[in-house]
Amino acid sequence: MTHSPVRVAYSRCASYSDRNLLRDAIRQVLAVQIEDFPGGVSGKKIMLKPNLLAWRHEEDVACVHPAFLVESARAFLDAGASGVAVLENPAVQSAPSIIRSMGIASELASMNVAVANFERYEKAAPPENVRFRNLEIAREYQDFDAVCDIAKAKTHGMMTLTLCVKNLFGLVKGSERMGWHLAVGRDFSMFADMLLDICLTVRPRFNLLDAVVCMEGNGPGSGTPVKRGFIAGASDALALDASVAPLLGVEDLLLLRNAEKRGLLPPFVNTGDVPERNPLLLPDPPGMLTEWGVPLPPFLKGWLRNYVISRPLLDPSKCVGCGLCVKMCPPQSLRLKEGKPVFDLPNCIRCYCCQEHCPKGAIRPKKTVPMRCMEGIENGIRSLFGK
Ligand code: SF4
Ligand code: SF4
Repeated sequence: MTHSPVRVAYSRCASYSDRNLLRDAIRQVLAVQIEDFPGGVSGKKIMLKPNLLAWRHEEDVACVHPAFLVESARAFLDAGASGVAVLENPAVQSAPSIIRSMGIASELASMNVAVANFERYEKAAPPENVRFRNLEIAREYQDFDAVCDIAKAKTHGMMTLTLCVKNLFGLVKGSERMGWHLAVGRDFSMFADMLLDICLTVRPRFNLLDAVVCMEGNGPGSGTPVKRGFIAGASDALALDASVAPLLGVEDLLLLRNAEKRGLLPPFVNTGDVPERNPLLLPDPPGMLTEWGVPLPPFLKGWLRNYVISRPLLDPSKCVGCGLCVKMCPPQSLRLKEGKPVFDLPNCIRCYCCQEHCPKGAIRPKKTVPMRCMEGIENGIRSLFGK
């Protein structure tokens, strides 16, 4: 049986301030997905899973924009959905508290859109083609007819970019997320495979990407807002990520390379007003051996990682000594000394959770000296022999 290519729809939207324009842009990309959803969304219950990393100040770009979330909910209701709810499990605050901080709690309540944290976790019943069979995933999504994954386009210290597939990591229990970072975070390729497995298990039928204002540089928590002025959507999260990544300057995303190797990447076509390529300023790349396609014994990889993967670096002038980075570090490789975090680098797995959650942007990945030398050699080899 041959499948038609997934349609990845684009629309332009210059800002969040004109609600009518934002609403129209979201509806355009959603209309394509609703057409592809058997029976449409009339009478269906839809769960929205937005990226709600943290909301620390007005115009914070670590989350999907509040207006984007409200208008996405409204688009489903106007298309006839019988119920829409927002569920998420942010690492630090609760979902209702982030929604209140964003100032959209009463607007969502007036639309009868419930907001809640994921509470019920069970071992997933994954499809045959997953690699990790014991993932505990929030079960609430099974109470709905469909999931809509709503991601923010941001750079990411570990995965380079976070788009729709990465956003689904939020369905993994908060306490387990640290465990998964510990279990597979040492190998970025395994981590990418785990993200793919979550996507295969949850299979969001609707996917929206907020790239009106993206985050570049020290993402996903403390990067710089940068306008890209578009919204993308598709019925397949992988197709959406594969279509968008090159437009943001990433032709070779590890997650997508693994998806391709595993035969998971569906054919897709772009439709609508596709933006021109406009690269984001990326964080320091983790390093050539992070793909771990290099056949080395595990002990050697473990030792080498101290030298060939960007290490977390503190800017003491930005640090306020809150200790959140210490709390979020999976292998407890951080401790506070005289009010500032101190890294135990040999024990650090380079997951960058500390960088992701630091509210002051005081930590960033920094290339090591051997890494710079190796990348020079790598670039030389690439220019001689191609990719
Ligand atoms: S580095 Fe960031 S998270 Fe850690 S103590 Fe300083 S301000 Fe807090
Ligand atoms: S110090 Fe930071 S990068 Fe290293 S393991 Fe801890 S959270 Fe991850």
